[in-house]
Amino acid sequence: MTSAQPSFERIDCPVCDGTVFAPLFEQRGEPFVRCRGCGLVLINPRPVSGVIAGTYDAAYSGGYIRKAGKKRARCARWVARIRKRFVARGRWLDVGCSAGFVVEAAAAAGFDAWGVELEAAAVAFARDTLRLPQVTCGTLDSQHYPAASFDVLSMYDVIEHVPDLNATVAELKRLLAPGGVIEIRTPDVGHFTTPRRLETWREIKPSEHLYYFDRRTLPRLFARHGLKLIERRLMLKSALDHVYGHA
Ligand SMILES: [Zn+2]
Repeated sequence: MTSAQPSFERIDCPVCDGTVFAPLFEQRGEPFVRCRGCGLVLINPRPVSGVIAGTYDAAYSGGYIRKAGKKRARCARWVARIRKRFVARGRWLDVGCSAGFVVEAAAAAGFDAWGVELEAAAVAFARDTLRLPQVTCGTLDSQHYPAASFDVLSMYDVIEHVPDLNATVAELKRLLAPGGVIEIRTPDVGHFTTPRRLETWREIKPSEHLYYFDRRTLPRLFARHGLKLIERRLMLKSALDHVYGHA
């Protein structure tokens, strides 16, 4: 290895502010621990944000784009479900939208659909190939969307990557219109199919998946920001699918 060693930062638990963590295992030099206060599993200490952001290269979206057909059909089902059960129309923002398939599906379903994504190659695909100029590149808080301006906010397989969880959930809350919903999907560390030997779980990804939620820790994080769990979808694979709204 010729690259410099990344610098690490130690954080308090973003869910309960706890400072005591039980060590679980180590992968690629990164310590996976469980918060003694709330049970959140996380990498702590962890590589600093700049290093984490650097793992999002073009190859990351390349694999995603190659599986476009299946992904598009799945995104259309996700959008149809929200539309049928919660919000029939209005403005939809997909946070961490990658190549823009959710944005495309939401627009096709009649929403005024927007997307934001960190990785430039994915944004270029969304804008140039899918013709979605409302997909922009950058972090959520750098977009400066107006307050209460979205009826649906979605984050699919994104929240586990976000360095500052509380800043992100606070921003989701700020952007959520009255009566709107936030849908979050993320791996479920407490799911019955998740291996007991956690280090063998395929969702364990050093530098990429910083947090591993379960059915208790995710609602607790959102409750800190005045957001309540409206629906918890029963999942057959090891994932959480939660819908939140204003408390
Ligand atoms: Zn905790």
